[in-house]
Amino acid sequence: MRIHILTIFPDMFNGPFQHSIVQRAVNAGIIDIKIHDIRKYASDKHNSVDDYQFGGGPGMIMMPQPIFDNVEGILAELTQLELASTRVILTSPQGKLLNQKTVKLFSKQSNIVIICGHYEGVDERVREHLITDDVSIGDYVLTGGEIAAMVLTDAMTRLIPGVVGTEASIEGDSITSGLLQHPIFTRSNTFRDWNVPEVLLSGNHGKIEQWRRRQSLDRTLRNRPDLLVEANLTEDDRAYLRSLGYRDANYS
Ligand code: SAM
Repeated sequence: MRIHILTIFPDMFNGPFQHSIVQRAVNAGIIDIKIHDIRKYASDKHNSVDDYQFGGGPGMIMMPQPIFDNVEGILAELTQLELASTRVILTSPQGKLLNQKTVKLFSKQSNIVIICGHYEGVDERVREHLITDDVSIGDYVLTGGEIAAMVLTDAMTRLIPGVVGTEASIEGDSITSGLLQHPIFTRSNTFRDWNVPEVLLSGNHGKIEQWRRRQSLDRTLRNRPDLLVEANLTEDDRAYLRSLGYRDANYS
């Protein structure tokens, strides 16, 4: 997969992709990340990429021409087959909220182009005529789309086969599994008088699995009860949830 990131602050990307799993994926040739400086596509001698808002209003707006030229230059290099597997994503607080399902869909594409907005955002014609997806990473407003592009890149990368060591570790992740993950512990057994739950030291795998599942249900009920509606629950799970006082229209 090739990920193209369009930004007016390319230096912001020095660092985040040069560590850990994303760096390993780049080194292994599984992903290729290209950072494009939108300013290089400016058409005047001042390298302008933003201008005042028609109709008046605060802040500057990113002009369409440098962004169109940059994206169209990238797309022109792709084969028909690659184009069919390409998404052009605008980062924006107005976009659809990003979730694991969308990340998974994006991670299967051959090319991802991410446009980072800044200032008041980008000229509306970018949204109307250039992008395939408008994506928000949460209900808050960032200064620019760069951090959103980093979040998206990181989340997609770990889903590409061969990037994370064991598939099981991805499938058991919070959200991906449909629930929040159970509590996890490592050495030492006792840290500042706080003990690791006995059951995890028991060697009884049946009991460990049951404990983890229940902890997962418990935590999901407390922090993200909305997930329970879509979760793949067994009769045992439902009985346990009922014992915690959970009532849902589907199985109360
Ligand atoms: N005035 C814009 C609006 O109300 O939609 C917000 C502009 S924001 C200050 C500047 C840029 O940050 C946006 O163009 C977008 O690229 C990025 N951004 C801000 N919040 C974001 C979010 N929640 N998700 C993704 N990108 C975001």
